[in-house]
Amino acid sequence: MENSQRFVANHVAGLPRSGIRDFFAIVSKMKDAISLGIGEPDFVTPWHIREAAIFALEQGKTSYTDNLGLLSLRKAIATYVETQFAVSYRPDNEILVTVGVSEALDIALRAVINPGDKVLYHEPCYVSYHPSITLVHGQGIGVGTAAEDNFSINSERLIRAWEPGCKVLILNFPTNPTGGVIERAKLERIAQFAVDKDLLVISDEIYSELTYEGMHTSIASLPGMRERTIFLHGFSKAFAMTGFRIGYACSTPELIEAMMKVHQYSMMCAPILSQEAAIEALKNGAESVARMKEQYRERRDFVTRRFNEMGLTCHIPNGTFYAFPSISRTGFKSIDFCKGVLEAGKVAIVPGTAFGPSGEGFFRASFSNSYQQLLQATDAIARYTEKVVG
Ligand code: PLP
Repeated sequence: MENSQRFVANHVAGLPRSGIRDFFAIVSKMKDAISLGIGEPDFVTPWHIREAAIFALEQGKTSYTDNLGLLSLRKAIATYVETQFAVSYRPDNEILVTVGVSEALDIALRAVINPGDKVLYHEPCYVSYHPSITLVHGQGIGVGTAAEDNFSINSERLIRAWEPGCKVLILNFPTNPTGGVIERAKLERIAQFAVDKDLLVISDEIYSELTYEGMHTSIASLPGMRERTIFLHGFSKAFAMTGFRIGYACSTPELIEAMMKVHQYSMMCAPILSQEAAIEALKNGAESVARMKEQYRERRDFVTRRFNEMGLTCHIPNGTFYAFPSISRTGFKSIDFCKGVLEAGKVAIVPGTAFGPSGEGFFRASFSNSYQQLLQATDAIARYTEKVVG
């Protein structure tokens, strides 16, 4: 039989599979492995939010919604974004409810990228950015960040990386996988860079509620930035709602209209039950978010202390639920260290290189795990490190 590979589009055939997926295919075959690899909360969605979805189902809410999303949800989003991020958007034409930030990112890129347009992003970064750019025939330009800067990015690095043809800058603070955040002063300089080079900023702020010290600032709230920013946010992380698949984009009427066209023809709308649950999350979820955040903070302090004690230098992630320790002490490549930890200690951690070339020499460990599991996992990593360092 002829191989059907010939039907696959060239730009898709050329995409690498996610490094995380390959790694976790091995993990899933192992019995009793502890996974610090997952990128989602270990908490179940708070009961009152689940109950809102159940209640909506009971009431027979099983239809499509407006393509933009339920107006009641868009109103709740407008209030929430104004309170939390100090930027206001109109519910009728500046907010689009999407199937997670994943869809929001995809349709934002599809709405603005012409073939060959260049997109700047800082890395190590979320595994989807580069492939999402490739899928819309754009050209990704990764700009490395460093542990010495707490994985923040400064405008000088961006200026150096800029080339003619750059149209978009993707920002993600707090950052997956490093937990890096950015100070307001640095963000202001990046905003100036975006203005100088006439860039559109796509700002993925999905982890913003999980900022542990200091205040999170959205670039959309800085003077002159609202008009050139697509603000992306969602419910997966802070509200522990990954399975609901719900997020949103806020921007100008022109950009939301362009995104809405792509969304309308590809997705139609986000699931109504998830939209109902999201309304409850925004209206009454603050306490649940604060409770989960406090636990992440305690776990963060625990794991970063443990990594530093074993000589795996780990900056304190000021956001997200990921630690990103250095393995320079071992002299190993990230992939070899992670494979070794998995084989010897039955603990799954993700090689830093899964998040881009500047992740070499690091691994990502998620602390959205129970204290007991984090204790066992860090013990196993410490034993392995001692063995290989000798
Ligand atoms: N953006 C970042 C930085 C992420 O880490 C993730 C998930 O891991 C997403 C977007 C996707 O989120 P969602 O579940 O809303 O699609």
